Amino acid sequence: MISRQLTYLDWAATAPLCDEAAEAMMPYFEGGLGNLEYGGNANSLHSIGRHAFAAMENARTRLARCAGCRPDELFFTSGATESDNTIVFGVVESARAARRMKGDSSFEPHVITSAIEHEAVLEPMHRLERQGVRVTYLPSDANGFVSPDALDEAMGDDTVLVSIMAANNEVGSIQPIEQLARISHEHGAFFHTDAVQAFGKIPFDCTRLGVDAASFSAHKICGPKGIGALYLSRKCACKPFMLGGGQEAGLRSGTQNVAGMAGFAAAAESLCDVPFLAEERMRLEGLRDRLYRFLSSFDGVAPSVACSPKSHDYLPNIIHVTVADMESETMILRMDRERICVSGGSACSSKSLGPNRILSQLGMDKDRALGALRLSLGRYSTLEDVECFESAFQRMIDWARS
Ligand code: PLP
Repeated sequence: MISRQLTYLDWAATAPLCDEAAEAMMPYFEGGLGNLEYGGNANSLHSIGRHAFAAMENARTRLARCAGCRPDELFFTSGATESDNTIVFGVVESARAARRMKGDSSFEPHVITSAIEHEAVLEPMHRLERQGVRVTYLPSDANGFVSPDALDEAMGDDTVLVSIMAANNEVGSIQPIEQLARISHEHGAFFHTDAVQAFGKIPFDCTRLGVDAASFSAHKICGPKGIGALYLSRKCACKPFMLGGGQEAGLRSGTQNVAGMAGFAAAAESLCDVPFLAEERMRLEGLRDRLYRFLSSFDGVAPSVACSPKSHDYLPNIIHVTVADMESETMILRMDRERICVSGGSACSSKSLGPNRILSQLGMDKDRALGALRLSLGRYSTLEDVECFESAFQRMIDWARS
């Protein structure tokens, strides 16, 4: 029977708005002049502007508490793509300018990242390379991990920035961020992490991890789309990427999206509460492990990485497998006919036909990587969703192999 109810298993691409975020933003969407009570420009001096400013600073303080940093080190952006671009270009430009001020006009900074980063980090890195910057892409092992020893070896006197994601958006591997940050600091480089997939899924505290910068996105944690944040330690020199009116302490010009900030803070508070996070992690791991067991029972279906039951090395909400003799697009569309949303990997690259980029980086052969299937869970995922997927998957395999 085809279920008419939607089963959403693509939370790593985006998450639905939670009630807390929707409620926090509601007052900002009143139409007409009534909108002004909440909808002022946070930089205006009059009372309406001051009201918006107070709401913005309230959101910043609450979000900073969730991210383990000081409010004056947290800057709102339009999303993690902007946060990543800001740090990559900004740190390199600052380092170059500082050395040139000292008379070293030929200095070209060296930057290190990993080969399994999101495009929001990789594409800025590619642009830097075209500008003559030396970029090292650390490989991942077959299970999605970047080696701290490889980082140590790659570091040089000219390395100014290391950017390695906290958790991979496709296979869910959690990187040893504390250790990677320590190695970067030993060599005098700043350490940035793209924390988009980790934040709100596992404990993430900028101060405890010792990172200098971290990128966040609201829509991955049931907040609104089009708002993100960048944690930037006061020690980390970073030239602004967006120039204009000097908002966000000059780091990110542009009139602030106060409604988005209120929604982001509410969503973060509702997910990052420590007992809730621990409980959610256990609940999602239970669903994840069940799905891995179910999928592994089919001939030709294999986990893409070595995620063992109750494994804390992987995000609790991501399941990644390959299905022999099936292509990702076929599976996505077949599941969609049953109102089940799944993916073949990152939403950014999902429209490009061909083998999954991340699996290729993990050393998987092209034919196997063509059959990538990613399921991702979230706050509203239930056992019923899992059961619904299992029945549909069984039907799909019966259809494909009949
Ligand atoms: N970084 C990672 C790891 C992601 O998964 C995503 C979204 O898919 C982004 C960055 C981009 O985030 P945003 O949509 O907020 O620009």
